[in-house]
Amino acid sequence: MTTRRFEHAVVTGGAGFVGAHLCELLLAEGCVVVAVDDLSTAAENALDRLRRHDRFRFVHHDVTEPMAFDGPVDVVFHLASAASPRDYLARPIETLRAGSHGTEHALELARRSGARFVLASTSEVYGDPLEHPQREQYWGHVNPIGPRSVYDEAKRYAEALTSAYRREHGSDTGIARIFNTYGPGMRAGDGRMIPAFFTQALAGEPLTLTGTGEQTRSICYVEDTARGLLALACSDHPGPVNLGNPDELTVRQVAERVKEITGSGSPIECVDAVVDDPRRRCPDITLAREVLGWAPKVDVEDGLRRTAAWFRRAPLR
Ligand code: NAD
Repeated sequence: MTTRRFEHAVVTGGAGFVGAHLCELLLAEGCVVVAVDDLSTAAENALDRLRRHDRFRFVHHDVTEPMAFDGPVDVVFHLASAASPRDYLARPIETLRAGSHGTEHALELARRSGARFVLASTSEVYGDPLEHPQREQYWGHVNPIGPRSVYDEAKRYAEALTSAYRREHGSDTGIARIFNTYGPGMRAGDGRMIPAFFTQALAGEPLTLTGTGEQTRSICYVEDTARGLLALACSDHPGPVNLGNPDELTVRQVAERVKEITGSGSPIECVDAVVDDPRRRCPDITLAREVLGWAPKVDVEDGLRRTAAWFRRAPLR
């Protein structure tokens, strides 16, 4: 459960989709927030709203290089990493380095500052899971050399390093395994399922399902994910803790809901399957409920409506 408060937060990847929402939440909680980001996959205007806060500071920095800060740091959230398959497949080595060197530098910053450290890991550590729904005890089923391994294995290494810092240095760490998150602030062209469906639906183009479209996903509204990350930070729990929405939908069902919400007449079409695309993805969030008192609050219908409003305004790119 939530037990502590922080005054000074550092968010690596703070200009990204989830990072910007987390920064907003931390500012609303009264924190001084430093976002560290190299802007490699950030949306163009991501920082506009944040910069209006006088307790917000942006540091343009690549986390694969050591981080030095003057002043107090009470909590470090490490989110800096390409996250959409399109982005990480285009930056394979950078993605591995963000998970390895980047995580080490963020852990070192937290260790030197005596700060709590929260790693934004991912459901991708479960790979194409053989257990369903996925519980934290499941070790995963990951292809270590396939194209997606640059992301999956970077996160698995980041979890291993975080655990080693906890054992070796007594670092105060928490690992969150985030499942598919969506909402306002996503880049239209980032290649993920939700932006792709909205941009296709709004442009009157076919909504494209990879493979059969019968693979399942669970999609969590971004404000819920940000709240979960904060709840983990405020707890003493080491994790890993799943953060996701246990409502499981097929990719086809998501496309149909997007069509309904946008009123689009676009057809739904199947295209080639993606290599190592997980067939089923659904979190068991019993642990998050028990130890963090966390569960998603925004249902899929409401979340998709709020997201539709964003994509109606967002520049298509
Ligand atoms: P994003 O691409 O929108 O944000 C990532 C941010 O990290 C970007 O602003 C990018 O510029 C920055 N970044 C990347 N490499 C960097 C580096 N070397 N140095 C400094 N900054 C760097 O992605 P997101 O969806 O906001 O994801 C944020 C985090 O959450 C990632 O670590 C991701 O793995 C994790 N996550 C996200 C999801 C999701 O569905 N969005 C699911 C699971 C895990």
